[in-house]
Amino acid sequence: MSRLGPVLALDVLIDNLTSLRKKTLLEIQESCPHPRESMRRAPYQGALSEARPDFLMCSECGLAEEGWGSFCAFEMHYDGESGIQEIPREEAGRLVRTFRTRREVSELNRKKWLARCREASRGDAEGVV
Ligand SMILES: [Zn+2]
Repeated sequence: MSRLGPVLALDVLIDNLTSLRKKTLLEIQESCPHPRESMRRAPYQGALSEARPDFLMCSECGLAEEGWGSFCAFEMHYDGESGIQEIPREEAGRLVRTFRTRREVSELNRKKWLARCREASRGDAEGVV
């Protein structure tokens, strides 16, 4: 008989907690308005061989968007980066919980927009008696 029973039970517990953490974080990030005052920008870093793009991140929910924001706007704040505080990459990296590509952030924004439209149309339907 294996003596690993308690370890296997802990493995199951860890898997369940990891799934719950992932689901909770996704819900928080999907509902976060990413307010401008909570946004931080980590600057471009690197040499010719190891260039790393800048990224924009929300300190409230930990969502970060990678991409060459200086050249093509970030999805998280497509109206520009004015007023967004720049902090060192290491500091920003400690606040990040999830990195997403510009395309993934765009998909999140689309879901938010659709949810708002559904809520608005429900509100209209309730108003009509
Ligand atoms: Zn956020």
